[in-house]
Parts: sequence; structure tokens; C-alpha cells
Amino acid sequence: MSIRENRLINCPKCDHEQSIMVWSSINASLNPEGRSKLFDGEINHFRCQKCVYESLIPTPLLYHDVDRKIAVHYFPPESMKKAEFLDQFDVHGKFLTAEDLDFAVPQHLKDVHVVFNMNELVSYVIFREMLLEFHQANSSTPNPSLN
Ligand SMILES: [Zn+2]
Repeated sequence: MSIRENRLINCPKCDHEQSIMVWSSINASLNPEGRSKLFDGEINHFRCQKCVYESLIPTPLLYHDVDRKIAVHYFPPESMKKAEFLDQFDVHGKFLTAEDLDFAVPQHLKDVHVVFNMNELVSYVIFREMLLEFHQANSSTPNPSLN
């Protein structure tokens, strides 16, 4: 499931208030248009209707693709300054909560890749999609379902 909601946000520059769609999760399998918007830089992108100031809304975003088993989580870099944030990870950068949620969390979400840059989020998704294509095309073991 993708999670998004309309929020009232004040322009950091001119204080003009406007409603904007804020995404906290994109499920690419169910929401291919969410993936397209992400690739076009339109997700959580603020553009003031009054003074045209543009900026990224600093909010965490989970990208997951169930079919391709890809999960990437963007966090604003400022998150690192908070102990509550660091407390969620072990020393290797793995989510500590993942094991507690064992019953409900699919494997690909346990291996979520953490990034602190939206461009890196997009690049990493492209990387994983290219890897999938590459390995499918170069697979030496024929897929039985194709025979
Ligand atoms: Zn403005």
C-alpha cells in the first residue's frame, strides 16, 4: 500500500499556506504512477504557488516494490542528529525493529536499504532494476515456466 495525505504546508520563504500531497510510502507494484512521479522528481517536492520557491519536503519516504523485492528508505539527513533515529539501527546500519516485527514484515522489507538523498533513492532503485534485468538475461539455468 502507498501512503500519502494532503498536508497544509507554509512556504519557508513567503509563509504562503498551501495544500500539498505528502507521500510517506510508495508501493511500486500497486502504484506504478508513484514510481513515475518519483523518477520525475515530483514526490514530496514543494513548489510555492505564490513565490515559486521550490524545495524538498524533509520527510521520510519508504519505496518498496514487492514484485522486484526492492525496499529503500529515504530519511532526511537531519534525522541522524536524533538519538531516537539512531536507536532504530544496529552498528551495521540494519533496522533493529525488523526482528521484532518478524511475523508481519516480508523479507525484502527487512533488508531495506537506507539512503539520505532522494537522487540516491532513485539511482538505487534503477540499480536494482538493472541488476534484475541483467541477471534474468544472463541466467544460465532456464526458467522452467518458460518451457
Ligand atoms: Zn512562497
